[in-house]
Amino acid sequence: MPVAVARKIEHRIRTDDLGLDVQLRPIILDEHQCQEYRLPRTPIKESERRKDRFEERYGEGATELDALEALHPGELRRILIREISRYYDGGLDQQIAEVTAQLDATLTDINARARDEHADELAELRASYEQIVRRHNEQLQGVAERFDIPMSEMADRAFLAEAMPQLSMGCGVFLQSDIVNQQRKGWQADEILAGLCAILPLNVWIYAGGLNNLKQVGRKYILQGGTHKNLAVVKTQVDFILSKIPEAEVVVHPYSGEAGAIGAALVALDWWERGGQTSFRGFDSIENLAYKTVTSVDTVCHWCPVNCQRSFIDVELLGGKGREWSKVPLGYGWERVIVNNSCPKGLVEDLNEMKVIKTEIERTKDAFPNVADLVRKEAFRRAPV
Ligand code: SF4
Repeated sequence: MPVAVARKIEHRIRTDDLGLDVQLRPIILDEHQCQEYRLPRTPIKESERRKDRFEERYGEGATELDALEALHPGELRRILIREISRYYDGGLDQQIAEVTAQLDATLTDINARARDEHADELAELRASYEQIVRRHNEQLQGVAERFDIPMSEMADRAFLAEAMPQLSMGCGVFLQSDIVNQQRKGWQADEILAGLCAILPLNVWIYAGGLNNLKQVGRKYILQGGTHKNLAVVKTQVDFILSKIPEAEVVVHPYSGEAGAIGAALVALDWWERGGQTSFRGFDSIENLAYKTVTSVDTVCHWCPVNCQRSFIDVELLGGKGREWSKVPLGYGWERVIVNNSCPKGLVEDLNEMKVIKTEIERTKDAFPNVADLVRKEAFRRAPV
């Protein structure tokens, strides 16, 4: 048998051009072991070609490996371990552990330095992530309301879908018209909700985060934001992350809806402990705050054809600058907050406000002239001929 096995291995090494140096050492069961363990013999089949030569050399009958395990349980394992141990360097485990610990420490150090160096970009990325997740949640809420599905049942309904439309990734405004399109094509409420949940990871990681290679941000992911109370969204997030990084560790924050607020509170605490002062006016001021809300044709945004129906929330505040020039005028002692705009452009009311902003810029320019620009103009002024 060892000769036959050796020939087969040799054949494979040559035909597959493996270039390996393989040595075959029989370790079980040799004649000596059969005698030592007193293993019984069984008759050899007549059809066995090697029967005569074998019996001529070792006597009548042969011993099976099963006999060793039946009469001496565990002995086969011990023999194999003893033999393998001859080639096993036990010190390697320790060396690997030391090198791994070193590598982990270096990676942690690089990670900390990279976070420090790119703190601003990370903060921007986080803000953009939160904005997209919030927008997406609003979309989900809007669709659920339109289909008369309570928020608490949204995940169950999405899981009922057996197919879903492929919604387009990107801006919420286009997503909205895409949903209407898919409805026209005949997709049902459950299927559209499933499609909306499925598009969220693409919107968050690729559209907002610009992360085509997810691995570059690591292997551990904490899903935060109220959207992740919806298990259909959690499933699509986990599927997406694992499809990119199979070894990734994904957890949902235990208080996903409040995680951002907890983080903000911790940052504020840190800041305060280092001597920072709050500009918060206090809960009493908030309770006594006077405000009014306006939503009308005069609050519609006309910077692009979407024409978002914005709302103006006017709050009475000591020292408020007011907006006398506005189509919805506001007196001194009041400040305006604009909401329901789909993009930052909508934070500027209209052309009147643009004029005010420009006047302000001009005034600043006059007060702080660009000396370098004046010098450049003077230096290159064409001399009168
Ligand atoms: S806020 Fe104004 S500019 Fe932005 S999408 Fe709406 S209408 Fe367009």
